[in-house]
Order: sequence, then structure tokens, then C-alpha cells
Amino acid sequence: MSEYWIGAHVSASGGVENAPENAQAIGANAFALFTKNQRRWDAKPLTETSISAFKQRCAQYGFSPEQVLPHDSYLINLGHPDAEALAKSRAAFVDEIQRCKQLGLVWLNFHPGSHLREISESECLTRIAESINQALDQTVGVTAVLEATAGQGSNLGNRFEHLAEIIEQVTDKTRIGVCIDTCHIFAAGYDLRTPEACEQTFAEFERLVGFSYLKAMHLNDSKGGLGSRIDRHHSLGQGEIGWPVFEYLLQDPRFQRMPLILETIEPAIWPEEIQQLRNFSAV
Ligand SMILES: [Zn+2]
Ligand SMILES: [Zn+2]
Repeated sequence: MSEYWIGAHVSASGGVENAPENAQAIGANAFALFTKNQRRWDAKPLTETSISAFKQRCAQYGFSPEQVLPHDSYLINLGHPDAEALAKSRAAFVDEIQRCKQLGLVWLNFHPGSHLREISESECLTRIAESINQALDQTVGVTAVLEATAGQGSNLGNRFEHLAEIIEQVTDKTRIGVCIDTCHIFAAGYDLRTPEACEQTFAEFERLVGFSYLKAMHLNDSKGGLGSRIDRHHSLGQGEIGWPVFEYLLQDPRFQRMPLILETIEPAIWPEEIQQLRNFSAV
């Protein structure tokens, strides 16, 4: 099997057990999913039937736990300035980790958090790290995977320094990792438009964070320009970034054996996008 694990964030509507089939149908050998409705706080616990069907189908289609990248709810803010809201987010985050664990999965991808202009960046980063420490203490087996963001609004995680500062304050370094979203970091100001720009951006990542922490990538083109801090995804090659970065990633072994997940805007062309990426890796 290819060392490049390529897929998309597929629908889990009707139950998490539908996600592996949706991924298999588009020719993926990796996928992302929400294990609950991403826009609601409450969720029914996963049923035994759903859990065993999910595991059985992952095995059947050849998705190992490392090839599946669950994403948490958009409502969670692990750096929330308000104590009550922070507690609610922390509890929901623990629940998300437990759901991953029940499904036999090993990653949970999440956005670091937002200061909402009420606390300083550094206070917020410390709060995020403390939230992660508490969650890791209460759970086992799942690695928390911080996503680099576009820095829209007051979201942190748009500088590699932010990710490094959070990791620095996380006690269990074996259970913390990073996911780079190409749209997000481009919108945050890291150029990816040429092989030389990619070289420089990933050297900067290696210097500040380190590839040992890179657990996954989100492959998206961007509607917003370089440094726009606008989080608007586009189909590969159709946005401001263009194809070169995707060719670069699929020819660089540092990006092998980790989920490479499309969150592009036209699910109908995911099979072609996946095929195009595979063609790059075959050269
Ligand atoms: Zn995300
Ligand atoms: Zn993303």
C-alpha cells in the first residue's frame, strides 16, 4: 500500500459507521470525520452497534487507526477567557477524546482556541496547554493534535510559535502533535506558492516546532490571499496557492505515513483530487 495516506473529511451522517464506506467510495486510504454533530454541545453516546460496525468496516477497507483523523466540535474553545465557558469546553473535549478511544482511534484534531480579546495571547496559550494537560490526565491512548489556524478573529495557532509555546507547556509530550492545514498557514502568512517557498516554510516549521510533532496535514487551496487571515478553503489548484505545494508534499517522505486530508469545497471532485495527488507521489 502507498506510504501516502490520502483522503478527505467525509460525512458520518446516519452514524460514524458510515464514514469508512464514504471514504472507501472516493478511493481514499485515510479519512477524517466528526464523531458527533460539530455544531452542538450535546451528543448521544456512541452505541455498541455503531462502534463495532465502525471498527469492522475500518478493518474491512484497510483503514488503520493511524489513518483516521477525527476532528472535534467547532464550539470547543480550550483557551476561553470565561471560567464557566472554559469548564464547558474542557468537559466536551474530554468527551471527544473518549469517543475516539471507544472507536479504537488514536488522534483527535482540534483548533487551539481563541482569546476573544479578553485575555492576552500568552495567557490564552497557557490556558490551552492547561486544558490539554487536564484532558490527557483524564484519558488514555489518544494524542491531541493541534491544528495550525488562519488566525481569523482572535483564534490563536496562526504562528508556529503559538504551537511551540503550547507544546512546551504540555506535560506529556508523547500525546501532543500538530496538523498543518495548507489553507490556514497560507492565509496566516506562510508562503507555499513555489517549491522554494515550501522549503522555507517547512524549514521554519522544523526550526520552531519540529517534524517529530507533525501527525497530519489538511490539504486545501485558499480563497484568501497570503496573510489575509481569511479561513476560506478552495478546491486544489483553484485558489491562491495553486498546485506546486501539493506536488511538493506528495514527493517529500516527511509527509508519508500520516493522514493527508482534503477539506476542499467540492466533494464531487474528491476522487479526482485524490487521484491527482497519487499521481504526484508516483513520479
Ligand atoms: Zn479544523
Ligand atoms: Zn483544516
